Amino acid sequence: MTTLPLASGRDVPEVKTPHPHEPWPPKATDRELGRLAEQRNLDLAIRGNDGPIVELEQLFRQRFTPSMRHSIAFNSGTSALLAAYMALQVGEGDEVIAPVLTYHAAVSPATALGAVVRFADIDLQTRGMDPDHLEELIGPRTKAIVIVHHWGHAADMTRIMNIADRHGVAVIEDCSHAHGSAFEGTPVGSFGKVAVFSLQANKAVFAGEGGVLATDDQEVADRAILAGHYRDRALRDVAAADLHAYWESGFGFKLRMSPFNAIVGIESLRAFDELAGGRQAALSYMNDRLAETGLLDPLDVPNAEWMGAWYGFKPLPSHSVRTRVERSTLVRMLQDEGVEVDAPSGRMLVRLPLFAGRTPWRRPGDNSTRRPTEDEIASTFPVAHLVESNALSLPTFYRWPHDRFVIDEYLRAFSKVALAIESGRIPNDEPRADRASLPRDGQSHGR
Ligand SMILES: *Cc1c(COP(=O)(O)O)cnc(C)c1O
Repeated sequence: MTTLPLASGRDVPEVKTPHPHEPWPPKATDRELGRLAEQRNLDLAIRGNDGPIVELEQLFRQRFTPSMRHSIAFNSGTSALLAAYMALQVGEGDEVIAPVLTYHAAVSPATALGAVVRFADIDLQTRGMDPDHLEELIGPRTKAIVIVHHWGHAADMTRIMNIADRHGVAVIEDCSHAHGSAFEGTPVGSFGKVAVFSLQANKAVFAGEGGVLATDDQEVADRAILAGHYRDRALRDVAAADLHAYWESGFGFKLRMSPFNAIVGIESLRAFDELAGGRQAALSYMNDRLAETGLLDPLDVPNAEWMGAWYGFKPLPSHSVRTRVERSTLVRMLQDEGVEVDAPSGRMLVRLPLFAGRTPWRRPGDNSTRRPTEDEIASTFPVAHLVESNALSLPTFYRWPHDRFVIDEYLRAFSKVALAIESGRIPNDEPRADRASLPRDGQSHGR
């Protein structure tokens, strides 16, 4: 295989550690495999919240949302979010305010229920919702606000709760990136009326597929149970008489978790603190040294913040690098140095057809709603636009101190590429013939 010269003019990539640099998910322990095998002959599906389901709910509540009385497991984070919107009685004629740059499932269930989503720009520091934009959008039709603690960084919950409370609007905290994160000492998921955590395979606590809804409000809990747990659990746990009447059918969906996923979730929860500690150590080490490389701006993580499992690491190239090279070129230069890097996969939600009209399944392919132009998107969401077009996705290293070696290789690669860019040694943006043989983005951090 012939290789083109690297940025340094040498043929040797700076990062020599073999890929993947962030092996995920961690392997199952013998205990986990034993419990899964045992469950096979015990019970294939659990109707109430017995066995591993109640165990997961209780452990999860104790570790992440101790101030919320109710913890309810679902078969996915998306299902738990659907239940949250149903529990808040979101529907036709309502508006929900959501951050424009995040994972669609934070708000797509609200669209499915017939609500209109209004998008707010993000804040550059937290990457979560910009409270000023929220203040502009909130109004008499606003039924709920969904906050995402993006990449593990808590949104500004003081300002957001202040705005929401003044208008009497319920807040949903989507904590799918933020297991274990805190805002000014208070765990995320304890601020709003209801919190949701995804336990999907990439997440820091993973069940394969799964989600947990937390609330301190009995009526919200009743409705969330009816949204997806009919019969046994509804019969036993739904408190209000008028809601209890629905126990046989619920509200029309079945969204409960399987015991096998619960077992995987319990075991990953038990390993969580070690994982989060490793991520904190590894990513703080890398972040603290980014500025010296001249290539990437460090993320601004105040001391008072606790990043929990630090789910994503998505820095921006420095201003001078941004003005000299396209992101695609920068990604290629870094990949040539052996860095596992790519553009983050998510794009602004205003670009998705799901959010262009209501009840989309009734009018598939109906594009009659006017879509915003590129200029309108860039001027309405300037921060999200900057991040969407410039951020890089790097591995979220978690094996500490083992990963210190590869992080040092990354830092040297960053410095080398910065130097090449500064001295004008920038490859032209032609796709390379041997592209397929280059290191590819890892499975988990391209999310
Ligand atoms: C993963 C994720 C979800 C959806 O969770 P699933 O378990 O994949 O359904 C929702 N919101 C955010 C922010 C996520 O990262």
